[in-house]
Amino acid sequence: MIYDVAIVGAGMAGASLAAAIGARAGVVLLEGEATPGYHATGRSAAFWSETYGGPGIQPLTTASGPMLRDYLTPLGSLHIGRAQDAGKADAFLRDFAGTGVALHRVDPAAFVPGLREAWTVGVMEPSCAYIDVAALHAAEIARARHAGAQIVTDAAMQAASRSGDVWTIETDAGPVRSRILVDAAGAWADIVAARAGVRPLGLQAYRRTMAQLRTDPGAPAAMPHVVDLSDNFYFKPEPGGRLWLTPHDEVASDPCDAAPEDIDVAIAIDRLEGVVDWHVAAVERRWAGLRTFAPDRLPIYGFDPAVPGFFWCAGQGGFGIQTAPAGAMIAAALLLGAVPDAAVAGIDVERYSPTRFCPRSHKLPSS
Ligand SMILES: Cc1cc2nc3c(=O)[nH]c(=O)nc-3n(C[C@H](O)[C@H](O)[C@H](O)COP(=O)(O)OP(=O)(O)OC[C@H]3O[C@@H](n4cnc5c(N)ncnc54)[C@H](O)[C@@H]3O)c2cc1C
Repeated sequence: MIYDVAIVGAGMAGASLAAAIGARAGVVLLEGEATPGYHATGRSAAFWSETYGGPGIQPLTTASGPMLRDYLTPLGSLHIGRAQDAGKADAFLRDFAGTGVALHRVDPAAFVPGLREAWTVGVMEPSCAYIDVAALHAAEIARARHAGAQIVTDAAMQAASRSGDVWTIETDAGPVRSRILVDAAGAWADIVAARAGVRPLGLQAYRRTMAQLRTDPGAPAAMPHVVDLSDNFYFKPEPGGRLWLTPHDEVASDPCDAAPEDIDVAIAIDRLEGVVDWHVAAVERRWAGLRTFAPDRLPIYGFDPAVPGFFWCAGQGGFGIQTAPAGAMIAAALLLGAVPDAAVAGIDVERYSPTRFCPRSHKLPSS
């Protein structure tokens, strides 16, 4: 059997794309692990924030919002700073002016009980929401399956070669033949490309640490997501008065089963104690995952300019859940040569094309 499309990686990116195209093409979704979602997708902080990732990510996040509706719960995001961060708040507001993202200045102390008095600068982003990531990912896997996609786990791709217009993909579950090979392998995307004889694009994975804390007082359920304007931490309330906290670390890493380091958890707690006067009673859980970025920190959707039939769906960084529906729609249209869905029709997809890393696409300097 020859599939139309073989997607390598069944995290959020691969699952969403399989769901988007499963009814229009013969699709096989190849996952190296026994369980889809084991890597970045299963380790996220689980929020949707239109400003997170900056103006280059925002169109994808905003377009995804209505499609994520069933998986979102209101949260709000409070961006905070000290007096010396006033300029960062101004720049932040300028960055999103005209995008339609509602942002307004607030007194942060009104939203965070026990906030230390140095934290006087606040910008509220009311639209920020929790995402039920596990339910979303499971729904996309189910949607892909119902649309006719084959999902094969324990099927790590080891090599691929192309003869005529057909790829033969060697996997741990046996060979698979397909006309198009999609690279949705997260932190392994450059490795998968190299295994198919495609030039890697310089993707880099970075470790991000999360900790679930029990604090005294407990995190109020009505508190928003609280983000540092200087990118040194964020935290959000979770059920039962728990708090999810990160030191916003970005430690370059080879692709791996990422694990948290004690020092990063300690740094996170130290930073939290500089923000609120709460006592940290226990670290109940800690984990880490890899956020994988292209050199310009934008995702990559599109056919490789040099190798026919090889399609990139990679570099979702720290935003691959909140951007998944729009990313999948864009990738589906490019992959199938179809008109993009109205939900993403206004998005400039060129900025996400792999051709931006191709020397041939560089403009000559004007004389
Ligand atoms: C701590 C943390 C917090 C985050 N918080 C948020 C957040 O709040 N909101 C948000 O939107 N995003 C967040 N993210 C980012 C988000 O989790 C990622 O962008 C997203 O999960 C990436 O999805 P993916 O499918 O590309 O990668 P992955 O989920 O890593 O999936 C890639 C898959 O490819 C498989 N694979 C690799 N190599 C092969 C091979 N050779 N053959 C077959 N399969 C292979 C892997 O096993 C894996 O399952 C966070 C990430 C981390 C780590």
